[in-house]
Amino acid sequence: MKIAKNYESINWQQCNVELFKLQNEILKAYRTGIKKDVLKAQHNLTRSFAARALAKFQKGYCPVCQSSLFNGEELEIHHITSRKEGGNHSYKNLKLLHKVCHRQVEYSKEGNLKATWREKGIIP
Ligand SMILES: [Zn+2]
Repeated sequence: MKIAKNYESINWQQCNVELFKLQNEILKAYRTGIKKDVLKAQHNLTRSFAARALAKFQKGYCPVCQSSLFNGEELEIHHITSRKEGGNHSYKNLKLLHKVCHRQVEYSKEGNLKATWREKGIIP
């Protein structure tokens, strides 16, 4: 599917449903412990319309490490304002990140890093 340049015209609500499903598939595959299934599920996420649209919006880069999103690393969707804290489903609230970078954003307590991420709009 071709990705429109006009991001407002993309149905992000629908993209979120798609991303949520794909992330759940990855989680399920992890629980089975079958590596082949995990890789397949991750590949499905990477190739999905929603992920490709986000990647295009981010010009192909992970905002955390500035490397290409498609360098072979696992990808995950990050909510800038978490859903628990009322974050919405707009692409403006989503970032496609490497899984490793995502973990760093979720768990790091380092003040300097947090300040940088806040500046880049990765965290609120
Ligand atoms: Zn990264």
